[in-house]
Amino acid sequence: MARREPEAEAVAVEEINEERANRERDALTISLTTVNLVRTEELMQAIQEITTPQTSLPGLIAIPDARSVIELENIHKTYTMGDIQVHALRGVSLTIGKGEFVAIMGASGSGKSTTMNILGCLDRPTKGTYILDGQDVSQMSKDERADIRSRKIGFVFQGFNLLVRTSALENVELPMLYAGIAGSQRHERAIESLAAVGLAGREQNHPNQLSGGQQQRVAVARALVNHPALILADEPTGNLDSRTAIEVMEIFQRLNRERGMTIVLVTHEADIAQYAQRVVVFKDGKIRKDYRVEDQRDAFEELRNLPAVEEDDDEE
Ligand code: ADP
Ligand code: MG
Repeated sequence: MARREPEAEAVAVEEINEERANRERDALTISLTTVNLVRTEELMQAIQEITTPQTSLPGLIAIPDARSVIELENIHKTYTMGDIQVHALRGVSLTIGKGEFVAIMGASGSGKSTTMNILGCLDRPTKGTYILDGQDVSQMSKDERADIRSRKIGFVFQGFNLLVRTSALENVELPMLYAGIAGSQRHERAIESLAAVGLAGREQNHPNQLSGGQQQRVAVARALVNHPALILADEPTGNLDSRTAIEVMEIFQRLNRERGMTIVLVTHEADIAQYAQRVVVFKDGKIRKDYRVEDQRDAFEELRNLPAVEEDDDEE
């Protein structure tokens, strides 16, 4: 999203609120369409990556701990709206290692989504450094960020963000289409990814033929399919009933444990945060707490102990 320049005319407050509401919904579309624009560049880069030693790639820098996926160093984010400045982030430093499962919590307006937008390369910090998987992405252009996004990050949103007139399989194939992966391989990997989230046999279903939990699993399959370094989930269980929420958390825990996926999840529910290994709490644009979860919940165990229900095939 374009940064507002100081000289830009003041924007009505309703407009900003509306824009913020639309932001999450649009984020995926933005990432997919902008990626499309830089596809040629992306292919060139892929070729370069294969033919050039990693260390000489532009933008890559040596990092002290090669195992961190995220390094935020003194991040500030200030939104300028006419004469008003909103300090959404006021010096956030955070390191997340490869294979960590982190929950981000905090009251509304504390800076969670702003942080997620920066982590997801949807937006840039006003000040500070962000190193993603060994690469400094803080000053990258919009196109460069779109490229990084398609290769390194899988997104899961509260509202699923699936294309409605498109099958589960095609929804999952989409990120690979933009990444320039050949048709047969796309098909194979999408089937594999849907099976990994327990949706084998549902490939041809459209979103309205799937329950909320199943739709969110399609979204997780889509987030996984490009083998990202990082999965970002903003309130992924916000629209789900409690059992379905546990089912989705079971998938995140499994991906984290079995595949070593790095997962950062925003939630305002303390009991959902207990499925993560670590909790980071934001307040007024700063990190106020950062702790290991003592009694991590185990979604798989919990589901085993819940009474069985029949799979709901209808629209919810
Ligand atoms: P949270 O996700 O924790 O509710 P946000 O990161 O959305 O918090 O917001 C942090 C602060 O930044 C809030 O005061 C919010 O109003 C402001 N803010 C967020 N996005 C924008 C924007 N695009 N323009 C102006 N102010 C914004
Ligand atoms: Mg938010």
